[in-house]
Amino acid sequence: MARYGMVIDLSKCMGCRACMEACKTENGTPLGHFFMYTFRWEEGTYPSSTIRFLPRPCNHCDNPPCVKACPYDARIKWKGGLVLTDVDNCRGVRYCEQACPYGVNYFNAKKPEENYGLDYGHADLASTTGGAVPPYWKPELEKAYSWDEDPKKKIERRVAGAGHRENTVGKCTFCVHRLENGITKTACQQACPVGAIIFGDLDDAGSDVAKALASRKSETFRLKDVAQTEPKVYFIGKAPAAAAHLIEQIPIPADVQKLGKTEYEGGTIPW
Ligand code: SF4
Ligand code: SF4
Repeated sequence: MARYGMVIDLSKCMGCRACMEACKTENGTPLGHFFMYTFRWEEGTYPSSTIRFLPRPCNHCDNPPCVKACPYDARIKWKGGLVLTDVDNCRGVRYCEQACPYGVNYFNAKKPEENYGLDYGHADLASTTGGAVPPYWKPELEKAYSWDEDPKKKIERRVAGAGHRENTVGKCTFCVHRLENGITKTACQQACPVGAIIFGDLDDAGSDVAKALASRKSETFRLKDVAQTEPKVYFIGKAPAAAAHLIEQIPIPADVQKLGKTEYEGGTIPW
């Protein structure tokens, strides 16, 4: 069985955020939700300062506190070591969001049709939408996929598209819907113009991701290793300085709910 992970080469990343854009399109995430987020910050003192970038998906931790915190068997470890939300079991209590040290979870308070800034079905907007299929109706995000490794667990589970249901918590899925349909590249990897993102089976010595990790092992770091979550996202390059001055904060729409302070609201940064 594969153990999926990601290597992100910070020496290549130029902070263009094509990965963020691709992720939003691929997963049809609601306004203000970023399953992939590229931090941009400044290190040093002007005029000798450096601008640096770090794209941050969910780490799909091998030892995920979010899974332990969920009382409803909704945050689960899926095939291939993916950490996902079963959207039918999720009751929106947000314990996963509290337990995760990385701030990657997004609570979806509203119905999908209220959550995208555009009511696709509204007659007055027909000329604008042109009959387009709303992002939250993407069939492969809505489908149940089979999990046959643990006979005690429910076999068919809807684990993609958690941004599409009211009262659920969504986050990066490592594009599980792509994997389940035989596509082995994530949307962010596909979009990156400089090949900074490599996704694949960490346990397959012949995979690009395993080769990248093996060849640059001494240059890699993971976020908050001290939390012992065993992240499966590795970064190549210099670790960020402990205190970072973010260049900008994401403008959070007033109706997007977050619990407490997060990096998006000027609080902690996940390193
Ligand atoms: S990064 Fe957070 S949400 Fe993702 S697996 Fe780790 S603890 Fe869970
Ligand atoms: S698309 Fe590639 S270069 Fe652009 S921000 Fe993402 S990882 Fe960096």
